[in-house]
Amino acid sequence: MTTDDDARTRLDAERADLEARLADAERAEDDVRGARSDADADDEHDPEGSTLSQQWSHTHGLVVSLRERLTENAAAVARLDDGTYGVCVRCGGPVGEERLAARPSAALCIVCASR
Ligand SMILES: [Zn+2]
Repeated sequence: MTTDDDARTRLDAERADLEARLADAERAEDDVRGARSDADADDEHDPEGSTLSQQWSHTHGLVVSLRERLTENAAAVARLDDGTYGVCVRCGGPVGEERLAARPSAALCIVCASR
């Protein structure tokens, strides 16, 4: 069984990693946003337009998913404080040691997550 200290260390590490990736993704999003407004100013029918839209949906999707992961991470820290960390929020069963090692902020056991 994972000790709370191990879990907290993993969650801290995960949060630091997510924050670094989010900062990169937000920078990339800003770049694409800047490039898009330049392209709009130049020519509405710029062939680059669709490529920039694709880049936008990619970078924006990444920012959104990283923010969601950070929210899950904060929720996992709250469960740790509550003493319910490692307990599946849906079925109340154990989330599982291997799963928590791979994804420290997992809220669901593998059975519930794959439903
Ligand atoms: Zn479950």
